[in-house]
Amino acid sequence: MPLDEFDLIRRYFTRATPGAALGIGDDAALIAPAAGLQLAVAADTMVEGRHFFAGADPYSLGWKSLAVNLSDMAAMGAAPRWFTLCLTLPAADAGWLADYARGLFALADAHGAELIGGDTTSGLLAMSIQILGEVEPGQALRRDGARDGDDVWLSGPTGAAALAVRQRYGELALAAADLAHCAERLDRPVPRVALGRALRGLASAAIDVSDGLAADLGHIARASGLAAEIELALLPQLPLDPAVQAVPGYDLARLAGGDDYELCFTAAPAERARIAALGAELALPLARIGAMRAGRGVTVRDAAGQPLALPRAGFNHFD
Ligand code: ADP
Ligand code: MG
Repeated sequence: MPLDEFDLIRRYFTRATPGAALGIGDDAALIAPAAGLQLAVAADTMVEGRHFFAGADPYSLGWKSLAVNLSDMAAMGAAPRWFTLCLTLPAADAGWLADYARGLFALADAHGAELIGGDTTSGLLAMSIQILGEVEPGQALRRDGARDGDDVWLSGPTGAAALAVRQRYGELALAAADLAHCAERLDRPVPRVALGRALRGLASAAIDVSDGLAADLGHIARASGLAAEIELALLPQLPLDPAVQAVPGYDLARLAGGDDYELCFTAAPAERARIAALGAELALPLARIGAMRAGRGVTVRDAAGQPLALPRAGFNHFD
């Protein structure tokens, strides 16, 4: 029996939505944020051939298509509540849909986010999620709040996803265990939602690292009217065989690789002890990697204090 559009939505995507006044099945869902809270709204699309390789594992696509949106909530300090899913499919393949939905709901359930609607069309494989979260007025972690003299922090090592992409293009030959780690980081990133929530009132600005650390920190610098300095020696090393540090482009992967979904944030030096305690509480290797200064742009200094030349400013679809 071929699966029609309505069977497909009912079978794979319709579940109880206790947090919504009305979920899937009508022309629109109905929701209300808790009294006094603001809605934080974000959307992210993934397109085959652009954001993932043809034939990608559907469980990972389900996971990642929501993870990148949850990461935006984390970067705002918002609590994720609801999301919609616009799915474009070349065919209604039951096995593919079941695995996609499992990956999607595994992460949705872990964060209490409810799927309340969407759209289903046929075409080249693509998925677009819009997410809504809640945050107290004045408490959102914006990009424009960094101050001169603030520390720059990073929630964990960057670069693994970029190394996995290079391996898939045949440019690297990582050892099996290292490749497994990098592929996991690329395919099933873990959004730092609890960290984002805990940084309300602590961080002065935040962003999630999706396009490359230097480029994303550059967005904080520009929005805040400041310069950012990163010390290469303070960047956390990837938990890989140390030999990988000699691979050409290793530092570039950490600085400009993209698809990391760690949080980069700024905070006053007076908050160092609180941030260290938070890292211990959340079991995250929070690292202080630099500082905000008067000026503009992002400078990365090597161990000798010399500025490094970064060949490109991060991923841009229309480069
Ligand atoms: P309409 O024609 O009014 O746009 P649809 O037939 O597209 O309605 O969708 C019917 C219901 O199923 C709506 O409530 C819509 O939000 C929901 N829906 C459609 N596609 C999806 C999807 N991929 N995931 C979740 N809900 C969906
Ligand atoms: Mg529709």
